[in-house]
Amino acid sequence: MSSGARIKPSFSENATKVLERRYLLKDEKGNLIETPEDMLWRVASAIAKAERAFADEESEEEWANKFYEMMASLDFLPNSPTLMNAGTPTAQLSACFVLPVGDSMDEIFDALKYTALVHKSGGGTGFNFSSLRPYGDIVKSTKGVASGPVSFMELFDHTTDVVKQGGMRRGANMGILNADHPDVIKFVKAKIEEGKLKNFNISVGTTQKFMKAVLNDEEWELVNPRTGEVVDKVGARNLFDLLCEMAWKTGDPGIIFLDKIEASNPTPNLGSITATNPCGEQPLLPFESCNLGSINLSNMVLPKGEIDWSKLERTVRIAVRFLDDVIEVNQFPIKEIADMTMSTRKIGLGVMGWADVLLKLRIPYDSDEALNLARKVMSFITKIGHEESARLAEARGPFPAWKGSRWEEKGMLMRNATVTTIAPTGTISLVAEASSGVEPVFALAYRRKAFEGEANLTYVNEILLDALREEGLYSEALIELILERGSLKELDLPDNLKKVFVTAHDISPEWHVRMQAAFQEYTDNAVSKTINMPHEASVDDVKKAYLLAYELGCKGITIFRDRCKEDQVLYIGTGE
Ligand code: UDP
Repeated sequence: MSSGARIKPSFSENATKVLERRYLLKDEKGNLIETPEDMLWRVASAIAKAERAFADEESEEEWANKFYEMMASLDFLPNSPTLMNAGTPTAQLSACFVLPVGDSMDEIFDALKYTALVHKSGGGTGFNFSSLRPYGDIVKSTKGVASGPVSFMELFDHTTDVVKQGGMRRGANMGILNADHPDVIKFVKAKIEEGKLKNFNISVGTTQKFMKAVLNDEEWELVNPRTGEVVDKVGARNLFDLLCEMAWKTGDPGIIFLDKIEASNPTPNLGSITATNPCGEQPLLPFESCNLGSINLSNMVLPKGEIDWSKLERTVRIAVRFLDDVIEVNQFPIKEIADMTMSTRKIGLGVMGWADVLLKLRIPYDSDEALNLARKVMSFITKIGHEESARLAEARGPFPAWKGSRWEEKGMLMRNATVTTIAPTGTISLVAEASSGVEPVFALAYRRKAFEGEANLTYVNEILLDALREEGLYSEALIELILERGSLKELDLPDNLKKVFVTAHDISPEWHVRMQAAFQEYTDNAVSKTINMPHEASVDDVKKAYLLAYELGCKGITIFRDRCKEDQVLYIGTGE
């Protein structure tokens, strides 16, 4: 296939460095064997091969060009495994996996092996460990005692350390234990010891029943999953308080609202959902995987200061097709995952650059106007995304598990059981030079090394620079001050500017949660978001955030209190 006159990708110097380190193909000696442009063409042409099954060769080339352009203009990027692996012999292209862990040695060690295979291929894994019998329970065959979910999780953690993701990034895991498991207290405290389960995000799986028991200060039963017997009772509020205290100290655990997730499970005919991928944005059935991609919203703003809805629509349509094509050419690490993924064909189209949009439109992140725009943008993306998936279903057939699914109930043919997900975009937002996911900007200016051993790079938010110039406020001395502080909060600048140019730490936890909830309203899957809190935040603030997330219909919540781990070192050091 010819590459024709392709537009040059517009990667910045920093983005090119990230690409060279993590994405561009290298020979055995570590020398680069492709340019960023080659990489995008490798990806575009590999994904467009899927078109062959549905159309003629001409159309394959046409789609390859459209996919290439959408990426080269940085309007859309797929998740890292697609960029790294498409068109290579190990074409595993998905970021998100959930694996089942059953209550037997065979099942646990099978899961461990599958984890290694998924991590090696660049994916992250999520597990619900609640089927495992609790610590101290009997093991009939050996007359021994069971070691419980937390100690088995350490095996998964260690495996993650040993298996580097193709040398390109570290594996990531989500470990979930339900609130009624007898080991839940051990689990909640599991990460207090520094370095323990460091490759895991952990979350307690809760239900409405649990949250009501917390609100009403009721007793809560702990049930042995092996026998179904109630083995202990705790105060629901005590458990919740402990959970919030641990999250205050370490950032973990988060909470997952399981029945909220189950309510939007598109294929209850295949089973219920009990886990998500590592960063929480993708609830999946056991053995299911999902490939993600994100639209760079920062590129969807017209110079006159409005969203470019027609460009956004065009991008959503091409992106949905791209992500559906990814499933066709994807090589899955094991057969069970291939079968499950092909039966639901879930894709996760999301966004990055949301904070950039708000800065460009001069809308404060912590305002009702921003929440309303979030709803408008995300409902638009999901609506067009569903339309496109329905069109693909007409041409290519619906996802195989469509019969008996919620989509059949609605009378809507769909190619994909889910279409939208909001990912963290940790690396691809660096490549696109956009703010990550739907997070506010972390700092407006900073100096840092892109990689160890390199000189410091100075970064100042471009949109802020434009605004300062526009308002006649720009001076080198002011930039120096912003570099020192990272935020405008304490500076002598006009209020309207200070309200708009806010950073993650200038925004109250409540507004962080509200933004997550606004996006969740119109997202099929879930929203990756960290609720940042200042160092001075109290355990009560954590409780408030968790309860607000529940009230507002989030599917889960993760908080992080600034520099909380510093306290943790002190806490351990003083033996308190
Ligand atoms: N992920 C992973 N290891 C990592 C980062 C991410 O396995 O070091 C997986 C994980 O499932 C996460 C998903 O990739 O939830 C998406 O993360 P992100 O959007 O940050 O990835 P990117 O595509 O930007 O690399």
